[in-house]
Amino acid sequence: MYLTLISEPYAPWLAPYAYGIVLLGFSFFLFRVFENWYASIYDRPLYRHYFVYKKLTASQEVILQNQFVFYSKLSKKHKKQFEHRMVKFISEKKFIGRTDLVITEQMEVLITATACMLSFGRKNYLYPLIDFILVYPSEFYSTVNQNFHKGEFNPKERALVLSWKDFEEGFQINNDNFNLGIHEFMHAMQLESMSSRDLDSIRFSKQFQNILKQLTKQEVKDQLDKTKFFRSYAFTNQYEFMAVLAEYFFESPKDFEAIFPKLYNYTKKLLNFNFE
Ligand SMILES: [Zn+2]
Repeated sequence: MYLTLISEPYAPWLAPYAYGIVLLGFSFFLFRVFENWYASIYDRPLYRHYFVYKKLTASQEVILQNQFVFYSKLSKKHKKQFEHRMVKFISEKKFIGRTDLVITEQMEVLITATACMLSFGRKNYLYPLIDFILVYPSEFYSTVNQNFHKGEFNPKERALVLSWKDFEEGFQINNDNFNLGIHEFMHAMQLESMSSRDLDSIRFSKQFQNILKQLTKQEVKDQLDKTKFFRSYAFTNQYEFMAVLAEYFFESPKDFEAIFPKLYNYTKKLLNFNFE
């Protein structure tokens, strides 16, 4: 007769906790719904950060300060966010030198900074499809299509592959619309947008559709033919188009905006470069 008492299934003292947990879960759910609704209405994430606390080492910071122009133009608040994101990126990705190349701190910092610059307007900035960054000294032989490449994104190997010589050139000359780093990271971002359903990927797909629609308009086609603004490689396929578009967006935003205001505007929304 004591048995029922011992195995008493009902524990009234637990009830408030149980309600609490259900309520908390429901609030999270509501918040997620609101967050997604906001991103789809305003074409940008509701917020991009929870906490910002990670800092680069002093020597990494010096490289960033002296060699990465984008960083020097950021506000104090955005600099902190940028640094935090870089620390996270470096800790998650494995940098590997190929054909005897030794990865230097400069390589790590500049490649990471390029990745974080392209994804800076996003909430999800870490490129989940990339685990490895492979760096060759110069052009390398690619088994993907038996040819020499300056860079590639290989989703099967989860690897972003770069020729350091070409990466450096792309980034030192910052107004010739060639930027290998931006180009390859854009490939990874676009592929992510096709396999993921988070709010940044949804925003990407939406603006990508807007961009494609623009390209079917006769006046845009005429303008493309007349100005030859984008290099012809952009028209290889839709992936190359987006990668080249991103290079132009960062390297000659003024001309881009003047010649193709709508395309520019959609690219801006896609990357969310609407900082205060
Ligand atoms: Zn490409």
